[in-house]
Amino acid sequence: MFIKIENLVAGPGEKVTGYIMVPETTIKLPVTLINGKKEGKTVLITGGVHNAEYTGIETAIQLAGEIQPDEITGCLILIHPVNTSGFENRTMSVVAEDGKNLNRIFPGNPNGTEGDKLCHFLATAFLSQIDFYIDLHAGDGYENLTPYVYYLGAVAPEVVEQSKIMAQKVNVPYLVKSFTTTGGVYNYAGSCGIPSILIERGGEARWSEEEVNLYKADVKNVLRHLTVLSGAVKDNEYGQVEIENVIYENASVNGCWYPRKKAGEMIKKGEELGVIKDYFGKVLQRCTAKYDGLILYRISSLSVLKNESMIVYGEIKN
Ligand SMILES: [Zn+2]
Repeated sequence: MFIKIENLVAGPGEKVTGYIMVPETTIKLPVTLINGKKEGKTVLITGGVHNAEYTGIETAIQLAGEIQPDEITGCLILIHPVNTSGFENRTMSVVAEDGKNLNRIFPGNPNGTEGDKLCHFLATAFLSQIDFYIDLHAGDGYENLTPYVYYLGAVAPEVVEQSKIMAQKVNVPYLVKSFTTTGGVYNYAGSCGIPSILIERGGEARWSEEEVNLYKADVKNVLRHLTVLSGAVKDNEYGQVEIENVIYENASVNGCWYPRKKAGEMIKKGEELGVIKDYFGKVLQRCTAKYDGLILYRISSLSVLKNESMIVYGEIKN
């Protein structure tokens, strides 16, 4: 079987790399196609839907370089990264030309702005060809995050089930079922019937070889489970638990953010999680825990913006 996306074509046993231009934009996508000799499933892996989430981007770059066609049954498509215009302008995860977050505007619009066109192109040229999807994220440049994985929760039951099993192959302690059905790439893929996961590892605009090695092992383990990559599937080391009733505590004002807790810390109901103050030290908003739980991520910059999630936590499912 040949795999073809615009100008890139890979025959059986071939690996092809190159840029694909998003039609009617100046945005280029660095893409690697790895086509196994044997036919099988096609998996899409993306890093840098959010361009300041460097662990995911470097993981996708290294996987694209390392994986060879003779290890693959089926096809791998890697985009590394997706938001190159954001990456090259060092935005905090928006498309440089229009300020849009790609994970809010799916399935895009061929007649819209650059970001809209990019989303439309991903949906039509890439998602139309795949059986499974793995999206590699991290905390954003201003976010402190504990490693966890999202799986699809509000799609067809068999897609939910397959997504959950994929997520269980990721070696992180926490699983989060997501109920969002619109806006994001991975949610949209789910609505098209494609079992998908979104992994969160790293953040604060940093990356290390150690984190990337862990991240690559996660992706490879999922690929082995899908029988696309050869080798034995490893068990999760953490006895993964599910996090539910996730609360996204939003800032009601712009201000200075003083968190009391870090990602990965356990919290007690009623405990203060952080406060927003103005430039004179006056408290503008207090945030307290609504129940016992675990912090998934929180903003780590001093600045907090109105309507953004300053701290996100959930309950550990018994
Ligand atoms: Zn992200």
